[in-house]
Amino acid sequence: MQKDHDGVWLKGNLHIHTDRSDGKASFDEAIALYERAGYDFIAVTDHWVVSERGQTPGGMLLLSGCEYNIGRRVQEGIYHIVGVGMARAPQIERRRDGLTAQALIDGIRAADGLAILAHPAWSLNRPEQAAQLTGLAGVEIYNAMSDLPFNARPYSGIFVDQLASMGVLLPCMAADDTHAYKDDLHKGYLMVHAREKTHEAVMQALRDGDFYATQGPEVHLTVENGKAEVVCSPASRVVFFSDSVWSEERVTHGTGITRASCALMPHETYVRAEVVDAQGRTAYSSPVRVC
Ligand SMILES: [Zn+2]
Ligand SMILES: [Zn+2]
Repeated sequence: MQKDHDGVWLKGNLHIHTDRSDGKASFDEAIALYERAGYDFIAVTDHWVVSERGQTPGGMLLLSGCEYNIGRRVQEGIYHIVGVGMARAPQIERRRDGLTAQALIDGIRAADGLAILAHPAWSLNRPEQAAQLTGLAGVEIYNAMSDLPFNARPYSGIFVDQLASMGVLLPCMAADDTHAYKDDLHKGYLMVHAREKTHEAVMQALRDGDFYATQGPEVHLTVENGKAEVVCSPASRVVFFSDSVWSEERVTHGTGITRASCALMPHETYVRAEVVDAQGRTAYSSPVRVC
């Protein structure tokens, strides 16, 4: 978490489908539903349909967006890559033979966008395979469409930890991946610490990793002098995750917890934190390198 400016905290969802692909709401309905719910920015990311950058009369920022996917079999690798904030439509040909996940990422980046690995748990992405990818700006640690009642594999924390254990630390994101506009609406989002509420400032904060992912609670993780510390909204559980598979004092239970800490061990290479509130909603920090 960078603290070089006072800035503003902005709420956003970077993964939304409309009836431009397989979502149940129209583009305008989707925008209205998020704006009424108090979101500061969104990206509409229909499958293979690039939405344009814009702004509503009420001031909600619309980042350009698109979700690209390759693969049909887990053994080959199924990759859904969300691109947001592109300055122009990426030059990615859907029908091209041999299209790879890396080509999708490179195409998004060549259009000045950010590439996000969507729902790796749902896709059964393999850490050894995904660790070869370069240029990802983040990974969805929580995806609401992959949760009940539609699916049952919404949480990619184990994938995040396996990658982090290989030295690949990806910023963690949460998103609705809205399709049904029922149980997948307003369930997972980002809180971004931006200099101001503009496209440029939001994109810069996303590039800098200056955000956390959440279903509701707040989480702020700092690491200093061999100690990890979380400051959060009132929680019933705070958990630290690292590449140490056994360690004491990594889980704090209680009511109204607003601070927790743990001493790091010399062999640990990263740490991240999750905060669960009384309603069972979780906030996720990104992994932080500690050596
Ligand atoms: Zn997807
Ligand atoms: Zn999607």
